Amino acid sequence: MDCPQCHRPLSTIEIETSDGQIHSLSECLNCGGHLLEPYLANFLTLETARNIDSVLPKSHALSTSTPNCSKCGQPMPSIKDDSVPQTVTVFTCPNHHGDFFPKDQLFLFKEAQQSKIYFHKLWGIPLRSAFAVLLPVLVIFSLVTLLPSILQQVTSSQETRIKASEIMTPPLITPLSSTQVLISFSTQRPAKTSLRFTEGLSKTLVVSASAQTNHLISLEELSPGTLYKYVLIIDINGRPVTTSEYTFSTP
Ligand SMILES: [Zn+2]
Ligand SMILES: [Zn+2]
Repeated sequence: MDCPQCHRPLSTIEIETSDGQIHSLSECLNCGGHLLEPYLANFLTLETARNIDSVLPKSHALSTSTPNCSKCGQPMPSIKDDSVPQTVTVFTCPNHHGDFFPKDQLFLFKEAQQSKIYFHKLWGIPLRSAFAVLLPVLVIFSLVTLLPSILQQVTSSQETRIKASEIMTPPLITPLSSTQVLISFSTQRPAKTSLRFTEGLSKTLVVSASAQTNHLISLEELSPGTLYKYVLIIDINGRPVTTSEYTFSTP
């Protein structure tokens, strides 16, 4: 596979995602760009992004041409929505083959993502949707098949799992530090939602107090290196459904 931007051969590197899974991505040693499978950037810690972007490119000539997807050859437009600041450039394949980050852009994207969440927290402004910070997840319902290992779903019974998956997407886990984790998910219909810990902590937190379809909660003051289990309570029209158990671990 060749680099979308400079067309030199890409090398494959292995990285650890924020939930401890191993994934691979493509790196261009010539221009220092990185090609990631869709959504993978959402699952990286800032530290991992920093390490990935520390590659020293052979060529420092910055290309200004629109990259072409390594898989389908289509021009990759840059992402223009709220998830990517104007000073950061991320290209995406129109056929969802992946996202291309020119040199340093992956780290800058992760830094901006984190800053935005801190800003909202600091000022007490609710983030309207997870899509304001996460790379566009257009086909979020196919995440289960795209990244099966990332979504650690511990199911208590087949019946509950089917019921929950019919009304919601699997939660996306975005660790921000060893003590803070962002959990986001969408429901097919507007719902009030809450999160109840079943292991690691014993409390229930309101995720969305009013009925909506995009849900985001920032969990803070967690213990580093700890396994947490939780269930989500999805309330559509006053009929709450409790999901099966989900897990995440802090780094
Ligand atoms: Zn390149
Ligand atoms: Zn493509």
